[in-house]
Amino acid sequence: MKTLSNVDWVWNSGKVFSTLQFTDGTSENRTNDKPPPTLACHDIAHFICGFHQDLEWDYQKEPNHIAEYNAVFVEHLLTEFSYYYYNEYPIDFYDTSLRIFNYMKWFSEDYYVIKVRHPSRKTFLELQKDFFKRIDISILTQHFTSFYNTWIIQDMIQSPNFNINIKMSDKEENKIEEIRPYLLQIERYINAFS
Ligand SMILES: [Zn+2]
Repeated sequence: MKTLSNVDWVWNSGKVFSTLQFTDGTSENRTNDKPPPTLACHDIAHFICGFHQDLEWDYQKEPNHIAEYNAVFVEHLLTEFSYYYYNEYPIDFYDTSLRIFNYMKWFSEDYYVIKVRHPSRKTFLELQKDFFKRIDISILTQHFTSFYNTWIIQDMIQSPNFNINIKMSDKEENKIEEIRPYLLQIERYINAFS
């Protein structure tokens, strides 16, 4: 599994051009000519997973169930936070955690049926445990701005028809530290539901 060092991602009304650079010095260009079924910030969530050493992220590597699970988990955690952050609302930890917990349970058990269709045969609780064990909150604080900028435009336009270019680097120094206590608290709540 390769780890990302730099990403140059262009979203052009759903057409996607990405240049991915890896920590082993290799790079790759990827093009997607038609809009994906997922939202723009889902792509950023994949990349955030890709900056980790040990978190499956590559949507092009089959079977990609776990990569999708991880990206969807990051997408939901950061989308919920973006909403509170943008509106300056106090965070409702109970409702937010329950929404994320239920969504990820549905995603793994009913939608992707990972325990049947993926060779790991992992249950939703095993997947959730793996995710929290591997996720690095520092990496999320480091790349939150890339996610947030994409989320804001996507949320305002309410369609894939916008253009944005996001550059991400493992050297990114603009960390949004507010995300740290949020994630720790959400993890605590989600574990309590399990
Ligand atoms: Zn995906």
